[in-house]
Amino acid sequence: MYTPKIKLGDKVYLIYRGKVSKFVVCQFCNGQGIISSNFNIDHKLTARCPICHGEGGKKEWGDTQWQLDIIENTNIPALYKVGKLQLETTKKYEKWTIMCEETGIESGSCYYMEDAFLTIEEAKAECDKRNLTKVKES
Ligand SMILES: [Zn+2]
Repeated sequence: MYTPKIKLGDKVYLIYRGKVSKFVVCQFCNGQGIISSNFNIDHKLTARCPICHGEGGKKEWGDTQWQLDIIENTNIPALYKVGKLQLETTKKYEKWTIMCEETGIESGSCYYMEDAFLTIEEAKAECDKRNLTKVKES
């Protein structure tokens, strides 16, 4: 019998296929979101950065590929706690799916276990492997 590689309560990294986004820090305000000018010691003016509108930078989109799920507006991989395991059976296949506490157990996102990994290294290696293989569009 097939034993799932991930158990209930495990912390996992998820990978998905999508456009790569990169947060590019605003050069004008150095990512601060505000600019200030000193006319003299007593008079300091601050204003919202006119280039990034106070965001400190902007998201840029790249190619579509397999990548690690990261925390919004950072480059830090997101870690999820597995709260539900389920075996999805269709005529074509049997696949384990997981649901995570962070994204909802009863109603929330459902992920395939084949897209979940216990370490960043494994997740990255799988992304590299899949990005090298021509993906069949469904
Ligand atoms: Zn700026």
